[in-house]
Formats: sequence, structure tokens, C-alpha cells
Amino acid sequence: MTTPSRIVVVGASAAGLTAAEALRHNGFTGTLTIVGAESRPPYDRPPLSKQILRGTWRPDRVTLRRPDALTALGADWLLGVAAVALDTDARELALADGTVLPYDGLVIAAGVTPRRLPTGHELGGVHLLRTLDDALTLRDGLLAATSVAIVGAGFLGSEVAAVARELGLDVTLIDPLPNPLIRQFGDHVAQLCAELHTQHGVQVRSGTAVTRLTSRDGRVTGLDLDDGGHVTADLVLVAIGSTPAVGWLTGSGLNLADGVRCDQTCLAAPGVVAAGDLASWPHPHLGRMRVEHRMNATDQGTAAARTLLGAATPFAPVPYFWTDQYDVKIQAYGRTGGDAELHIITDDTAAHRFAALYSTDGRVTGAVTWNLPRQARALRHHVAQRTPWRQALRHAATT
Ligand SMILES: Cc1cc2nc3c(=O)[nH]c(=O)nc-3n(C[C@H](O)[C@H](O)[C@H](O)COP(=O)(O)OP(=O)(O)OC[C@H]3O[C@@H](n4cnc5c(N)ncnc54)[C@H](O)[C@@H]3O)c2cc1C
Repeated sequence: MTTPSRIVVVGASAAGLTAAEALRHNGFTGTLTIVGAESRPPYDRPPLSKQILRGTWRPDRVTLRRPDALTALGADWLLGVAAVALDTDARELALADGTVLPYDGLVIAAGVTPRRLPTGHELGGVHLLRTLDDALTLRDGLLAATSVAIVGAGFLGSEVAAVARELGLDVTLIDPLPNPLIRQFGDHVAQLCAELHTQHGVQVRSGTAVTRLTSRDGRVTGLDLDDGGHVTADLVLVAIGSTPAVGWLTGSGLNLADGVRCDQTCLAAPGVVAAGDLASWPHPHLGRMRVEHRMNATDQGTAAARTLLGAATPFAPVPYFWTDQYDVKIQAYGRTGGDAELHIITDDTAAHRFAALYSTDGRVTGAVTWNLPRQARALRHHVAQRTPWRQALRHAATT
């Protein structure tokens, strides 16, 4: 593989920024161009549904790097302009303003976009949450509202429910699945999540879907449910998951089956790598996956950059994510939920302390903790080593 001399990064956020830094760190001295659809310099998203929404952080605190660090990268920053087409044969990237960028190395790190309900998003009081502007608008809305309905009880919906309760609003959390976060953690932990929200006064409406939003004079007034119920709300957050931002890659020849489909080294096509929320790759131990979590964006950005420079190795992280809800920090490693078997290590519900392992085929494949950060790090070891679960439980009992 010849070393590229012109590399373009699409997506100026966690994965794209890290890839650009890793390129320079690993000796790339050629032309580096970073294209970002948002006009803001790179910022961090996890605080948007936590500190920004609560109002405990000023917006500028989410910036990922100081201006001098961005300048030191020696990159051309094309912000506020989207990539609109990719020709992998000619190795050219087209931008919305008509610019065509030739490249010999390309990093695709365009993330995901929130899913929408079929109708209703034109109404006042209906929100999505992905960007800093979304978060600031949502905060203003929450401060003016008295009741909020949250459609979707995944991480985002659950976190916003917690903040909205802290702000004193009436909160209803709605999801067609039996409990919040069940897809991520399985039945038992999802039941704990439901209890956590109920204890804090959230109306958890599980097992029911929204059929339509109701409105008066162009503003949302609530929503109808398929169990015949109605929820009154002057603010609605739609948090029903995301889809990879790959529309602009149609016709590029890349496999877009679930995001950008890559090999074990994050390579999607000759000279093209992908990283972050939109990249799907076959994890050597955990199977094909696409991870929409912050730590993965950094790790994969670094791995993809190394691949582009000819130092490809299989990308085999121990996936990690966290979520903060009320006074509970949930941390998880590996694959949690799904068909995996749950093995509880600590269950102190009153103190909101919990730890468990997940196993598949007799070996540890995941771990989750509530408010036990030290134990989380210890359990990570068993996920990384795929320890037989009985052995891991014995070890956990003695440490
Ligand atoms: C509110 C919120 C809270 C979160 N909280 C947590 C958490 O607690 N824990 C956790 O692990 N993870 C959390 N996450 C997830 C985490 O933030 C993401 O995994 C991470 O941001 C992914 O980084 P990325 O660079 O792949 O994608 P993104 O951060 O989405 O960045 C992609 C960038 O590419 C740009 N782009 C898209 N299309 C184009 C195009 N055609 N041309 C140019 N640019 C384009 C986008 O505008 C965007 O700026 C949260 C996410 C959100 C939204």
C-alpha cells in the first residue's frame, strides 16, 4: 500500500477529529482536509443530554479541543458544508457548495441522524436531540414547559426523562418494548431501570406505541397511544434511535447494509476507512457490530487512521459505554443484553449499586455496573479475557 499524500476526513466530530489527530501522530505529513456539515468546531455530545440540559455547563464547555490544538493539526477545515457524493473509482469527494476534493485516503466519520416519527415534527414543541443547538433549544423548551412526553426509552430518552424530572416537570416515558433499555441490558436490568424512573416520579408507559401527535394552533398538546391511551404534554422529545448518515454515499459502490460496512481493520474500500457511529465491522471476538458510543468513536478513529497509513490490525476493542440517570452512573463493557445469560454479583437496590456479568457459551461477553466504577474496571478484565463465567464470579466474590 502506498502512503497517501491527500487525506480527506468527512465528519468533524469525535471519530473524525481523533482520526485526523492519529494521522498526524503516526507521521502523516500530507494534505489533510476535514469536512464537517455542522459549522461549529468539534464538540462532545454526551454532555448534551446531561450537563447542558441541566444547565450546569455553559455551551462552550463541550468543545473537544482548544483553538490552538485544532490549528496545530495543520488541516484545512471546511465546516458548515456537507459531503454530497463520493466516487471511489475516481477518488473524488463532492461537497454541497460544488467543491470537488480529490483524495487518495478517505476517512468516513459522518455519524448518525435521529429517526423521526412519520408525522408531527412540524409542530411547535416537538424536539429531536443530536446537536448542541438541539440541546439548547430543548433546554429552553423544558424551562417553559410543564409536562413532557418522551417517545423512546433508550439511553437518550431515559437521560432526558431524568433531567426533566430534576427540572420539576411531569414526565411520561413511552416505549413499545416491555421496559426502558431492555434491548441494551436485557430483562432484569431493564426492570431496574423502570423502577428507577418510577421512583423518581416518571410515568413509564411500556409496551405501547405512539399512533399520532395531537395539536392545537400548530403546537403539540400530547399524543395518542395504540393501547387507547392519551398523554397530555406541552413538549415532546422523539428519541427513537438513529440511522447512519450514509445517504450521500448512495452510488459510491460502498456496502451500506448497516452503516458503512468495513473489514476487521475498518477498511471499506481501497483507500477508504470508516469510524465511529456509522461504521460496521466484524469484531474478532464479538461478531459484526456497529457501536453508537463515545469511546468507540475515539478508538475506531485511531484504528481507521492507522489502517489508512498501512499499519492495519484487526480492531478488537472492549466496547464501553456509560449513561447517567439521576444519581446513577451505569457503565457497561462488551455485549450486554440480547440472548446472553445474566449473572448477578452485587444487587443493593436501596443504594442503587448493582453489578453483573453476561455470558454466552459459558464465557463472559459483557458486564454492567451501577455506581460501582472500580468494580466496572475489574469486570472489564473478564470481558477482555472471555473468562469462563463461573471463574469470573468466584474471582469477583473474592475481590
Ligand atoms: C445527546 C447525546 C448523548 C450521548 N451520551 C452518550 C453517553 O453518555 N455515553 C456514550 O458512550 N455515548 C453517548 N452518546 C453517543 C456519542 O456521542 C457518539 O457515539 C459519538 O458522538 C459518535 O461520534 P461520531 O464522530 O462517530 O459521530 P457524530 O458525533 O455524530 O459526528 C458526525 C459528524 O459528521 C457530520 N456529518 C454528517 N453527515 C455529513 C456529511 N455528509 N458531510 C460532512 N459532515 C457530515 C455531522 O454533522 C456530525 O457533526 C451520546 C450522543 C448524544 C447525541
